[in-house]
Amino acid sequence: MTTTTQRSTREWQAADAAHYLHPFTDFKSLAAKGTRVITRGDNIYLWDSEGQKILDGMSGLWCVNVGYGQQDLIDAATTQLKTLPFYNSFFQTTTPPAIELSELLAEVTPPQFQHVFFAGSGSEGNDTIVRMVRRYWDVLGQPQRKVIISRNNAYHGSTLAGGSLGGMSGIHAQGGVIPDIVHIEQPFFFEHGRQSRSFEDFGLEAASWLDRKITEIGADKVAAFIGEPVQGAGGVIVPPASYWPEIQRICDKHGVLLVSDEVICGFGRTGQWFGCETFGFRPDLMTFAKGVTSGYIPLGGVMVGERVARVLVDQGGEFNHGYTYSGHPVACAVALANIRFIQREGVVERVRNELGPYLAKRFAELNEHPLVGETQTCGMMGAVQLVKDKASRTVFDSSLEVGMVCRGHCFGNGLIMRAVGDRMIVAPPLVMTLAQVDEMIGLIHQCLDLTLADLK
Ligand code: PLP
Repeated sequence: MTTTTQRSTREWQAADAAHYLHPFTDFKSLAAKGTRVITRGDNIYLWDSEGQKILDGMSGLWCVNVGYGQQDLIDAATTQLKTLPFYNSFFQTTTPPAIELSELLAEVTPPQFQHVFFAGSGSEGNDTIVRMVRRYWDVLGQPQRKVIISRNNAYHGSTLAGGSLGGMSGIHAQGGVIPDIVHIEQPFFFEHGRQSRSFEDFGLEAASWLDRKITEIGADKVAAFIGEPVQGAGGVIVPPASYWPEIQRICDKHGVLLVSDEVICGFGRTGQWFGCETFGFRPDLMTFAKGVTSGYIPLGGVMVGERVARVLVDQGGEFNHGYTYSGHPVACAVALANIRFIQREGVVERVRNELGPYLAKRFAELNEHPLVGETQTCGMMGAVQLVKDKASRTVFDSSLEVGMVCRGHCFGNGLIMRAVGDRMIVAPPLVMTLAQVDEMIGLIHQCLDLTLADLK
């Protein structure tokens, strides 16, 4: 058996093509093109099997918030693996890392959250959300309250429940949607709003679509509304400040539970610990994953607010739900080390006061580029909307796949940036220096120029 350091890129690619079915991938076309083999990471950089250094503008998959190679996290995993690599929490048992992480999560999340239910990923967390909100209404004697409202173009994972909650037609088309999930439009100003009203007025209007939908369905049938504070995988769509407080008001008016999917926004990404704090709303439930361990090891879960916890704990009886890896001790130990690192190093405050504002300033400068129709940032997330005509903000014909062309240039020039249609997005690690932000912006500029040259 060949060890990992001895194979050439071609050998890796051949074995990959022969056996490995990648997520969200056209298997045949990838096998023909060959994958890029990432072999090492340090700080905000990756290296591939050809030795090329790459600035990771996406923190892996929105998760490596503290960067690669943080010794605290590595030590925590190693120590826990030696002490107790696994035990479950099913049969009146628990483990010290799971208990301590529950305590620490109660400390760093908003005050209504005193309880946590652990899962293995964001998708599993959202499956738990579906079960939990329906169980909540069952226990309260309102079993007809089943409908969960979400938004088009949202991403809530790719299990059957996660994919159904999400609003991505490509996912719905393969495997269908579970019953009683309904979608409304997303608050995307560039697409929907800019001709007729101000950004903030648009926020109120976009929130009113929820009110209208709840009224149409009947509030007595609606269990919950779920949304990402900033729609991430949909293209870093930052809503107006008016949007979320109005969503909160509408949910309160109808007694509907409010769920914040914090899988991307959680743990400092937006400049507060959680996105709901940045946007000023008070969810009843919160899904988390990714940044809880900075992606070093899988962990997800649901923070359960007092409104729901009081019903499930005091009156709910047995909750027939759980995963083998709920509260996995190694994952919890890594999460503890990760959160303590974020606290000790003041990572969230730095994103809020220094890094986020600097990224916003540098992104705003990208508006000068002829290809750029709009930029948006929130904390350490940014989007660049590519357009055919800057003055009228006319978009490109989608068949040109301009975003993919730009992404190709990024890959070729040592930057990982993602394309969502023609919206180029970044979510780099939260531990960057200002000089590294400049380096990233320089690479983005260069790749925009190369993309523009290709279009001529
Ligand atoms: N929710 C959001 C907002 C996400 O961005 C993601 C993944 O990108 C998920 C849920 C699903 O998380 P996972 O891939 O860990 O299942």
